[in-house]
Amino acid sequence: SPIPDYLAEALRSVEADQSGATADYIPELANADPDRLAVAFCTEDGRRYSQGDCDASFSIQSISKPFVYALALADRGFDEVLDKVGVEPSGDAFNEMSLEPITGRPLNPMINAGSITAHTLAGPRGAAPHDRFDRIVDGLSAFAGRRLEMDEAVFESEIRTAYRNRALANMLRANDIIDEDPLVAVTGYTRQCSLAVTVDDLALMAATLANRGVNPVTGAPVVPPAVVRQTLSVMATCGMYDAAGDWMTRVGIPAKSGVAGGLIGALPGQAGIATFSPRLDRHGNSVRGVELFRRFTSDMGMHLMDVP
Ligand code: GLU
Repeated sequence: SPIPDYLAEALRSVEADQSGATADYIPELANADPDRLAVAFCTEDGRRYSQGDCDASFSIQSISKPFVYALALADRGFDEVLDKVGVEPSGDAFNEMSLEPITGRPLNPMINAGSITAHTLAGPRGAAPHDRFDRIVDGLSAFAGRRLEMDEAVFESEIRTAYRNRALANMLRANDIIDEDPLVAVTGYTRQCSLAVTVDDLALMAATLANRGVNPVTGAPVVPPAVVRQTLSVMATCGMYDAAGDWMTRVGIPAKSGVAGGLIGALPGQAGIATFSPRLDRHGNSVRGVELFRRFTSDMGMHLMDVP
């Protein structure tokens, strides 16, 4: 297959770019080696390819958001979730206090306010926080096709200074969007963000979305097709924060970035793609990850608005 050579060449083409900076608001991420670079592809029939630092594990961070949103939709149904979290792009940064004026709902589940809310909606209503967390780890592991584990150091490092997310959760509680102790919600959300993954895990997670919610390697049905459609739509409109429009026009596939440097894209019916490179642009998206995806789109005609 020419794919491994193509991926290796793509990595070489972006290697020299050292622009951007690692996130510094989570001390453990600021200490991470910024030079690591990796890419993985997984096709909808389960063929997997990766190049670069593909054994490097890093925290999933915001890439957990679409998957936990999908679990919430699957567990509670659309009505209950949409009642609490909207689907409109905010055009704001990921940690902005973007709540709708009348309902007080977070605008969408890809910003922190919406994702803290979606976290509380995973699993059966009234589940204890540790049972809910188990459901989230089980669910994300089913997407990844292997058992995911938490990176405790990243969790400790983030929770200690999570003042802004705590403020968001307090606002959500004040507006009756979440109905539990805000600190419990933020703690669970931060644990969710600290799950450790590799690019191969992320590519398979994205490929499961691209394959109607069925994991193409294990064969396990993870979430129903209607949930996948909802999740991919929200990724397409809100997944890249305040750079979502730029991303949709230039790359043109549903995607999600994380502050540790991961980036995923799902091309429905075809493949899941993941990159890892820790230096971020001013929107919080991986610099070399965005470059790689732009290149994949122009080389392979991935853009969803192009006639195949
Ligand atoms: N855990 C991070 C936070 O809540 C996730 C942000 C991101 O990955 O963009 O700040």
